[in-house]
Amino acid sequence: YEFLVESNGYAPWYTAFESFYVRRLKTRIDDCFARPIHGVPGRYINCFNRKAIRGGFVYDGTSNECLNLSSYNYLGFAQSHGVCTDAALKSVDDYGTSVCSPRAHSGTSDLHLECERVIADFVGKEDAIIVSQGYGTNANLFSSLADSKTLVISDELNHASIRFGIRLTGAVVKVFKHNDMKDLEKLLRNQIAQGQPKTHRPWKKIIIAVEGLYSMEGNLCNLPKLVELKEKYKSYLFVDEAHSIGALGPSGKGVCDYFSIDPNRIDLLMGTLTKSFGATGGYFAGDKKIIDKLRINYISNNYTESVPPPVLAQIISSLRVIRGELNPGEGEERLQRIAFNSRYLRLGLKKLGFIVYGADDSPVVPLLLFLPAKMPALSRMLYDMGIAVVIVSYPATPIISARARLCVSAALTKEDLDYILEKINEVGELIYLKFSSGIAGGS
Ligand code: PMP
Repeated sequence: YEFLVESNGYAPWYTAFESFYVRRLKTRIDDCFARPIHGVPGRYINCFNRKAIRGGFVYDGTSNECLNLSSYNYLGFAQSHGVCTDAALKSVDDYGTSVCSPRAHSGTSDLHLECERVIADFVGKEDAIIVSQGYGTNANLFSSLADSKTLVISDELNHASIRFGIRLTGAVVKVFKHNDMKDLEKLLRNQIAQGQPKTHRPWKKIIIAVEGLYSMEGNLCNLPKLVELKEKYKSYLFVDEAHSIGALGPSGKGVCDYFSIDPNRIDLLMGTLTKSFGATGGYFAGDKKIIDKLRINYISNNYTESVPPPVLAQIISSLRVIRGELNPGEGEERLQRIAFNSRYLRLGLKKLGFIVYGADDSPVVPLLLFLPAKMPALSRMLYDMGIAVVIVSYPATPIISARARLCVSAALTKEDLDYILEKINEVGELIYLKFSSGIAGGS
């Protein structure tokens, strides 16, 4: 694993502009959970141990089994599981591991069409398109929707894939303050007012782009207000449900389900299959008219490989389990577990006095310390206690609010969570004592 020692791989321009100290802190934070794993990332995750050497780390071949708060395995489907695993294995017999072609060439099997039908049904839209990468789904989508006569209004904390996708379009981009509906409305009003004289507005279309559940903050978008504004200002609404689909709402159908809003009031619902479904790739779903247009225009359909069959089988079977069509009762139990676990961990941490961001029902639990520089210590101490957490910081968050992003899973038991709370509390105390004795003792 020596090659991983050099895994930081900064581009030269990046190295040049970033100061030495920022880079050093970022490197330390990146190191916090950048360990190779082996085995299935389920309730537990097996990570290779490493030892420090001058200038970095080397992996020593031994490994550590940790309770897993570091994968986005919200419903626990990543874990080897009867129905999904059997379906994935069978699909390899029937279709092989790859279709070796983009969708528009010979990369569309009956399994692809079935998967799109199941996804569209689940999210409550007429049709859907699946794509082999979640990031790529967004990165390639906006250029098929927008051009220089379009105004795209984007939440300031939108995921990099959305921001990248929007920048490729040539559209005019405006950014509103995170989740601030007053700022969004002000922008909409001002932009439309630019169309004076009042006979027409200056934009062919306006697209508002948001996330359902923000992956670094753990908070939800204000969907009721967004829908109201998009209707009032005759705009289109795009919602990225990477972290909410499967994990939020009484039936696991994401933010629309959570807020009891008809999905037909949102123009495009996008999601990734990496998180709740233990698979990979992304999808977007909408009215037949939009999806038919995108089947022709969407760049990935022509220029990149289609989703592999075992992945499709995994998505289809996990969705059927959630809907109760396979293994009745299991889907419901998983949904109840993720809802219980998310609240239990978050409220437990709050009770212990930790700073925790986000909504009570969010499976993403960002944990902060008063001293962000102690984040790497928190991660390493927890690792030694058999708990895997990922630390995120700049550029995903401001450097002063580096955080441990705890991802809750239905695979964890209440006993696991009690152990996790006990150990986080211990580590918090240790960090606090060390820090305060440092000040008091002047050491
Ligand atoms: N959208 C959001 C909001 C995300 O958080 C992510 C990644 N976690 C993606 C898109 C990209 O998904 P993937 O990792 O499946 O490529």
